[in-house]
Amino acid sequence: MSQESELNIQMVDLKSQYERLKASIDKALFETIDSTAFIKGPALQEFEKNLSLYMNCTASIGVANGTDALQIALMALDLKSGDEVIVPAFTYVSTAEVIGLLGLTPVMVDVDYNTFNIDCHSLEQAITDKTRVIVPVHLFGQAADMEHIEKIAHKHNLFIVEDAAQAIGTEYTYSDGSTKKVGTLGNIGCTSFFPSKNLGCFGDGGAMFTQSTELSQKIRTIANHGQAQKYMHTTLGVNSRLDTIQAAVLNVKLEHLDDFVQRRQHVAQVYNESFQDLDDIITPQKEQFSTHVYHQYTLKVVDGRRDELKAYLQFNGIPSMVYYPIPLYEQEAYKQYYVGGKLKNTERLTKEVLSLPMHTEMTPQMQEYIIKTVLYFFR
Ligand SMILES: *Cc1c(COP(=O)(O)O)cnc(C)c1O
Repeated sequence: MSQESELNIQMVDLKSQYERLKASIDKALFETIDSTAFIKGPALQEFEKNLSLYMNCTASIGVANGTDALQIALMALDLKSGDEVIVPAFTYVSTAEVIGLLGLTPVMVDVDYNTFNIDCHSLEQAITDKTRVIVPVHLFGQAADMEHIEKIAHKHNLFIVEDAAQAIGTEYTYSDGSTKKVGTLGNIGCTSFFPSKNLGCFGDGGAMFTQSTELSQKIRTIANHGQAQKYMHTTLGVNSRLDTIQAAVLNVKLEHLDDFVQRRQHVAQVYNESFQDLDDIITPQKEQFSTHVYHQYTLKVVDGRRDELKAYLQFNGIPSMVYYPIPLYEQEAYKQYYVGGKLKNTERLTKEVLSLPMHTEMTPQMQEYIIKTVLYFFR
């Protein structure tokens, strides 16, 4: 196995994607530089408009990153210190970080073993009279069980803030057949344009979505130092903007988003077919109610050899990642918020998950080599 150096396999290949789109991206970038409208320039307005059309929502608001989006969302809901916000324990740290920062209490609950997404039974059990918000995370690119979550939220009068950082473009289908893009189902949706996300810019970026005109105005005010009018600060705010340069890049890339998704889905399908006979690994389960945009292609290695497989792949020039190796409630900064026992599925997943290379520029040669190496390991 010595093809690895020629193949140069990466988790995410930003360079080849840029080269493929270089002409139009460079043009958009240089137009923005030439205009020198670096803050709130025309490309930002255009991107927000295009994004709302794509998402089919009332308002899209560009912000500095996905973490800020989550923070501003919670700031817009008029919560008070000590209010509880329910999050899955198996997620990226941002989801819980902003809750703690705002003096709210993150309540971490278990996820479903098959889908990696928040478990509705654990969610409902965690509700107290202090609970105000649920933050479902559409992990790895597949929607959480939103119809169920909406029912719970309705019953207990809770807000829903969706963390769609990994799931832009994912479509949710309700039992009546109607569909919505994730990020537009809850009161507020949040996404990230971090370079390696499915719609990535050339630095940090994020956006928020809402169907409520009132909330969209509140969000814009908070993201702009709490001012709706210049020098009239009506509320505490932050400084969080999507740079015009980033919006210019995103305007070009948004046109390709559905193609990006299809490329990822194709890679996932080839992995799925190749691994279906292996008893040692479980391929990602696809839910009926959601499309999957495969931000990550995440296997479960059920024979206890996850770390061994990772090392073997590494030895053969194939990167792989463990998202996420430690439950949130076991992180030093988050232990203070957690009183319960170990969460069964979260614990198990931290020991079993392994994400394989997944991106829009995967060649059949690369994927064949990755698959051959995985199959050889389990032979
Ligand atoms: C990437 C990510 C975020 C944060 O986005 P940034 O733009 O990096 O701040 C939040 N939640 C999840 C699940 C993410 O994957």
